[in-house]
Amino acid sequence: MRAVVYRGANDLRVETVPVPRIGPNELLVKVAVCGVCPTDIKKIHFGTVPPPRIFGHETAGTIVRAGKRVTKFKIGERVALHHHVPCLKCHACRHRAFAQCDTYKQTGITAGFEPAGGGYAEYVRVMPFVLPGVIRIPARNSFLEGAMLEPVNTVLKAVKRLRLLRGDTVLVAGQGPIGLMFTRLLALHGMKVLATDLLDSRLKLARDFGARWTLKAPDASSNNPPARYFDAAIVAVPSDDVVRQAQDAVRGGGQVLLFSHTRRGQRTGLDLATICVDEKDLLGSYSADFLLQSEAARLVFSRRLDTRRLITNQFPLEQTAAAIALASHPTAVSLKVVVSQAS
Ligand SMILES: [Zn+2]
Ligand SMILES: [Zn+2]
Repeated sequence: MRAVVYRGANDLRVETVPVPRIGPNELLVKVAVCGVCPTDIKKIHFGTVPPPRIFGHETAGTIVRAGKRVTKFKIGERVALHHHVPCLKCHACRHRAFAQCDTYKQTGITAGFEPAGGGYAEYVRVMPFVLPGVIRIPARNSFLEGAMLEPVNTVLKAVKRLRLLRGDTVLVAGQGPIGLMFTRLLALHGMKVLATDLLDSRLKLARDFGARWTLKAPDASSNNPPARYFDAAIVAVPSDDVVRQAQDAVRGGGQVLLFSHTRRGQRTGLDLATICVDEKDLLGSYSADFLLQSEAARLVFSRRLDTRRLITNQFPLEQTAAAIALASHPTAVSLKVVVSQAS
């Protein structure tokens, strides 16, 4: 089969590799769509993990083979996959910190080599410990929507980390696909959202997604969001300046949530008294919450969160490198980029 193999930093090659063999408790899924995710982009650009690997973890496709001990799924079913599933028993899981669970940190979907998601290949093998994460896609929904479950789950998890009351005000900085999902989910939860971005096209979409106010992204001097106005701020752009602006923008006792600061080793200056004295919590959220999967699926498949408008660009498998290039340097009109093999 064809697969896009990561051979080193910024080195992706279309290669022919064996179709994965599956065990008695495993599935083989023919990939239809795989979303391009910033966390994979970082690994590819900075070469932070050893090659070779086949990336891609926002995967939807069709079951084409099922191990003989698999009873819950059958051949022909259209499914969305989750490459991480927690054990639900360890210390981290008992604290609902699933992303810190050792079982969760193992990647249970592969197209070969060290498991890394495998969605940039024709077929993936779904290992037994991630079978609980497989979700059927309803007949009326597309593979594209199925591939959005994982990112929607990560956003839903982050929203649940905030202690908000209906009618609260929230600043969402950055209206890329993730920021727009935040805007929509917060609006659905009854929050008044100020959406900021550098691009007018995204601000317009943010209003469609339920933002009450929009603001062309604060440049350093003017146009800052009002100080001490917001109950929470989501920082969906990897900018330290925006974190500081968010710290100013939330009221005492408010919360600032980091969603895009995934690069290790970066340091920054913060006035720590804003945390200690003003009780402005600084928190992060990473990856998905297994227990929120059905809620995320309902939001996507009912189209209360309509992900179809977020997917702007589809690339064939052979052009995965171009898909990743566009996702890392978005244009004024590009949002979610996917690799699609759906015919
Ligand atoms: Zn992802
Ligand atoms: Zn665990």
